[in-house]
Amino acid sequence: MNKVSVRQARAKAMIGEVVRIQGWVRTRRDSKGGFSFLEINDGTCLGNLQVIADADLPNYEDEVKKLSAGCSVTIEGEIKESGGKQETEILAARVEVLGWADPDSFPLQKKRHSFEKLREWAHLRPRTNAFGAVARVRNQICKSIHDFFQEEGFLYVHTPVITASDCEGAGEMFRVTTLDMDQLPRRDGRVDFTQDFFDRPSYLTVSGQLEAEIYATALGKVYTFGPTFRAENSNTSRHLSEFWMIEPEMAFHDLDDNMSLAEQFLKRIFADVLAHCSEDMEFFAQRIEKTAISRLEAIAGSQFVRLSYTEAVERLIASGEKFEFPVSWGHDLQSEHERFLTEKEFDCPVILSDYPCTIKPFYMRVNDDEKTVRAMDVLVPGVGEIIGGSQREERLEVLETRMRDQDLVPEDYWWYLDLRRFGTVPHAGFGLGLERVVQFVTGMANIRDVIPFPRTPGNAEF
Ligand code: ATP
Ligand code: MN
Repeated sequence: MNKVSVRQARAKAMIGEVVRIQGWVRTRRDSKGGFSFLEINDGTCLGNLQVIADADLPNYEDEVKKLSAGCSVTIEGEIKESGGKQETEILAARVEVLGWADPDSFPLQKKRHSFEKLREWAHLRPRTNAFGAVARVRNQICKSIHDFFQEEGFLYVHTPVITASDCEGAGEMFRVTTLDMDQLPRRDGRVDFTQDFFDRPSYLTVSGQLEAEIYATALGKVYTFGPTFRAENSNTSRHLSEFWMIEPEMAFHDLDDNMSLAEQFLKRIFADVLAHCSEDMEFFAQRIEKTAISRLEAIAGSQFVRLSYTEAVERLIASGEKFEFPVSWGHDLQSEHERFLTEKEFDCPVILSDYPCTIKPFYMRVNDDEKTVRAMDVLVPGVGEIIGGSQREERLEVLETRMRDQDLVPEDYWWYLDLRRFGTVPHAGFGLGLERVVQFVTGMANIRDVIPFPRTPGNAEF
């Protein structure tokens, strides 16, 4: 007998086949006519498969009639055409109970729980419709990311998780150490990190960019896709302490190429999700965000707005909108400003570029005005920034000056500077936060609900 998934069993073509399915009971309903309906889900799709369990099954009274949400079962039987909403159902010839779930203590009963409550049950929440749908859409997005870059001729490179350099220069890093916290070795009154595991202070990476540049300036077009860690103490709906970042880096690319790639890349992800996750996306449109599907469809046929930081500041000031934080040239845009631009001013994705050099990291290429750098941020409605990138500074002297301006010691980055000493080339790249895309696509309001096990300040239990 063929074992098939619920997803397969729901297809009309399966009618007449005798199969085995395995999954978890979502609901049981007993009919007066002496049989029961079971709804079975196995995670392969949002929808359940309806099982007709007849009273003449040998374990009908003792087992079938005691099944409740959460129990695991094996069902064997013939797939029939269904009279209900679904195309198919299965007439059980055998129902085997693999694991019981006590209805008095299993938390996921009929009652719908809030997403906050479900965060306390990170071990059970994937069994709900919403988290199942998020997991499948997240998986599709990851597949699209690899498909896109592989088809475009990018090489997947693995950059280290443990590093000694602070790429963003923001100092928001988790330390990695094997020193005894109760007995720290000291020299001249300071902790002596030469006695630590790596003979130097080391951290979890905040970005793989610097290492990706090494490979881009040898192999042309590369991308990284891995976990990233930021010890920023921001309890917002779009920040995690551990998140996944995709970072393409391309030799012989300038900022315009970078923007075009980012736009093409995002459009590909959205098109793939619409094509391959329609059932899950309908769920998000019905339950989470009305425009979940329509806004992705609209983006496919539109062009992202491109605008300089300076123009953005002018537009924000001219808008007359009351913001919590004032807007002025030279200051970083706050999330409320970014959201205003992408949601109200343009109502579509926006790429801002050429930010003041004082608010951007050392590695971004300085413009001829010497006041701005070739930075770009992609902003989308509902989320704000999902991509941050730039053309990189390829001129050795300019880069060294920028490092000193930001109190970095150029010698510490000797290997990074070597890329400018030996065959330097114009190059560019960006970082996309995976969870921010999943948030945008699904419309889920909180980033903690689009990653299986969210790490945020004070939270790392599961
Ligand atoms: P933000 O201004 O939103 O804090 P950032 O400017 O610090 O982000 P970058 O350093 O440009 O972020 O990182 C590139 C991308 O990584 C961002 O555009 C975003 O999608 C994602 N990202 C950055 N920080 C986080 C975080 N704490 N949690 C989740 N995603 C993040
Ligand atoms: Mn950024």
